[in-house]
Amino acid sequence: MQLTLWTYEGPPHVGAMRIATAMRDVHYVLHAPQGDTYADLLFTMIERLPRRPPVTYTTFQARDLGGDTAELFKDAARQAIERFKPAAMLVGSSCTAELIQDDPGGLAHALKLDIPVIPLELPSYQRKENWGASETFYQLCRHLVLKPEEKTAKSRPSCNILGPSALGFRHRDDVKEITQLLNKLGVDINVVAPLEATVADIRKLADADFNVVLYPEIGMSTALWLLRQFDQPHTKTVPLGSNATQDFIREVCALAGIEVPAIEEMTARARWYAQSVDSTYLTGKRVYLFGDATHVVSAARIASEEMGFEVVGLGTYSREFAREVRDCAKKYGVEALITDDYLEVEAQITELHPELILGTQMERHIAKRHGIPCAVISAPVHVQDFPARYAPQMGLEGANVLFDTWVHPLMMGLEEHLLGMFKQDFEFHEGASPSHLGSARPAEIIVEQAVTQKEASNQATWSVEAEKELGKIPFFVRGKARRNTEKYALDQGVATITVDTLYDAKAHYSR
Ligand code: SF4
Repeated sequence: MQLTLWTYEGPPHVGAMRIATAMRDVHYVLHAPQGDTYADLLFTMIERLPRRPPVTYTTFQARDLGGDTAELFKDAARQAIERFKPAAMLVGSSCTAELIQDDPGGLAHALKLDIPVIPLELPSYQRKENWGASETFYQLCRHLVLKPEEKTAKSRPSCNILGPSALGFRHRDDVKEITQLLNKLGVDINVVAPLEATVADIRKLADADFNVVLYPEIGMSTALWLLRQFDQPHTKTVPLGSNATQDFIREVCALAGIEVPAIEEMTARARWYAQSVDSTYLTGKRVYLFGDATHVVSAARIASEEMGFEVVGLGTYSREFAREVRDCAKKYGVEALITDDYLEVEAQITELHPELILGTQMERHIAKRHGIPCAVISAPVHVQDFPARYAPQMGLEGANVLFDTWVHPLMMGLEEHLLGMFKQDFEFHEGASPSHLGSARPAEIIVEQAVTQKEASNQATWSVEAEKELGKIPFFVRGKARRNTEKYALDQGVATITVDTLYDAKAHYSR
């Protein structure tokens, strides 16, 4: 048992639903209790799809448990085929149905259906949504992909784009952006899957020269299988950020056997924006990152190489990719937090007190409580992160979107500077929120109070002069200065923090 209030991922059958819903002619028969249809809302409300997910639930009730739930499943499968006429069918259980062990795969087999039936074994009590999506996509491919035709000489190389799915964070626009980029390089797209793919598309996956894996959490198992099975290589770089996109272009050209274009010309506007003098004040901003592995690893690189931020902490809920995230954390001299417990994430944020959080919807809540600026870089996300406008994260336009999104929550340079100089203005005082954000809550103050109250019992007390001196430190780093000084005082056995203690601590930590 684990006491849980928020979960970063849903159960694995939601991952399977994401694959079925992404595709155009696959139906999913899900053995599940009445009420599990709640998951439909993820697609119709959050993603705002104009159609119901292609999922038939058996919706058994308590009274059915005394009868034949297996027969219920068979009826549901028969009716789904008759009504929706899919080209292939996925069958599986949700968490509760897993306990009654009806074996949907065996039952569907007994029906002798004339379309391919792919049974899913998704262990709901050990695995989560992304794993469920990855496993479903892999099983679909294993059952459907055909041996490639004898390759005839083609004028242009071709690739598949693997990983984009329903309910994916910006998948729709990433696919558009990367498709345009690949076409511009002279590479044709054989199949994009699972998003918008048909069963016929999946069958011809092996015809491409190589695979582009946009979302390793969903597409990597399949890419590795295609490599083993058909010797089809795949990309390792995810084109998130200006630098990574350039690496991606080089990698694609190598795989496609084409000449690398003049790469200096293929840069995002964001690169110049980050270099322009207005961005100088961004240098060294302390940033904390949390989300799925792919977005965190990529965002850490952008933050450090392209924005000039200092990465003070990072972590992921993607346990399957913990090694990649740990390796990434080492580059920035921090320890990766691998957890799906938001309380652990919040504790680390409280401890590190960053100036900016890049995370999921959960971190947005944490940031709000702590008064820290925040931008969303990864699922899980709310409805506003399925925007109407074009908003990719990948490729060159994606890098532009990222720059704007990350800088937006921060206090702008001039205001930050003026606040440091004039603290008593009636409108632009320290308790006021950044002016460009209108009604947002002020940063810092809330956290400072929380920290002071919580730790008052075992901390040194602040002299009036030291407290006044602390007030001269710009608000966005003051929390950090307070905590460092208190830690220093505790280590040194100082009972009252004076102005000298404050500066001794500063000297100590800047050594
Ligand atoms: S079967 Fe699983 S997803 Fe459905 S209500 Fe129960 S715990 Fe939730």
